[in-house]
Amino acid sequence: MMQPAAIALGVPLRLLAERADASAAQVIADAQVGDYTDLEVLRAWAKGLDVVTFDHEHVPTPHLEALASDGVACRPGPAALMHAQDKAVMRRRLAELEVPCPRNRVVDSSEAVADFAAGAGGWPVVLKTARGGYDGKGVWVIHNPDEAARVFAAAPAGVALVAEERVDFARELSAVVARAPSGQIAAYPVVESTQTGGVCTEVIAPAPNLDPEMALQAQQIAITVAGELDVTGILAVELFETRDGRILVNELAMRPHNTGHWTIDGAVTGQFENHLRAVLDLPLGSPSARAPWTVMVNILGGPAPTLYDGYPHVQARDPEVRVHLYGKSVRPGRKVGHVTAYGEDLADVIQRARHASEWFEGKIGDGESHEAR
Ligand code: ADP
Repeated sequence: MMQPAAIALGVPLRLLAERADASAAQVIADAQVGDYTDLEVLRAWAKGLDVVTFDHEHVPTPHLEALASDGVACRPGPAALMHAQDKAVMRRRLAELEVPCPRNRVVDSSEAVADFAAGAGGWPVVLKTARGGYDGKGVWVIHNPDEAARVFAAAPAGVALVAEERVDFARELSAVVARAPSGQIAAYPVVESTQTGGVCTEVIAPAPNLDPEMALQAQQIAITVAGELDVTGILAVELFETRDGRILVNELAMRPHNTGHWTIDGAVTGQFENHLRAVLDLPLGSPSARAPWTVMVNILGGPAPTLYDGYPHVQARDPEVRVHLYGKSVRPGRKVGHVTAYGEDLADVIQRARHASEWFEGKIGDGESHEAR
């Protein structure tokens, strides 16, 4: 999704992809398949580039330091990125910045979890691997010491775990900003995101009925974190809105983020374009919404082996709905695309976006299977 933005800007991209069939490798001509954890592969690939950026946070920071010493600008840089790689590091830094977070502690045994639970409002608590989790993998809700012991028994040796109070949230929010090395920041409207089984499934922009003070506070948190951590590019701050009217940071992502996909069609400047403008230290584009409401619904893999059969119905029924398919093989529950609808009436926009997504997923249809259509 960075490539269309790069085309419009006239900026050539060079890709290091994990696999030849990766989505990005299908659309970026100058693509090489290689292992980003292999420093020599990374160095050879990066030779001659002006800027390196990422669509995930897992490149080892020592490798990025090596690239920087070769004269390649890494944006975001390793010192910022470590806060998106390691939840324990992130929690410690956010506490220093006095950014509100759920109560949390790094734990090394089930006894330590029980001790934390006793001081943090009791069971259940949430246990998370500090590194390597995504889409809810590496996150467990723990109801007693036995369950905690089972997580420790299954966790790979040496992996730090963070215990957090389980937040009784009313909903999840996300504040996305773009920040350039110059310090310029563009803040997108704060959105509501719905997670199903740890996976983001739906985003509403702006978050309906959000207290304007709280929206400002959320944007201010994202701006503070971006500035203090010296983030360049997109920063997404995932937040909980609690039932008693507070907001707490759940986690940070330093890359174009699922909760910002609505901006591709719904904002004056999409997050992928602003990411590129930011990492190139160009002036940022307007993050304003184009319509009163924009709704993005992910398409998750369902029973249909391919998604293209969904087009005739979806496109005929709603010429304004925007569809993005990622060229991924369809597996149950895998994010394989998203749809975006926008307009004046929230209920109508939600209904149109959900209908299109459900049709692609094969949850609704014309009575025949996708294969038969
Ligand atoms: P990942 O890195 O896999 O995205 P997250 O830390 O975002 O993991 O957690 C995934 C989901 O689990 C969150 O979106 C939220 O729904 C739930 N969750 C995470 N932490 C807490 C918490 N402290 N209290 C309540 N729910 C939580």
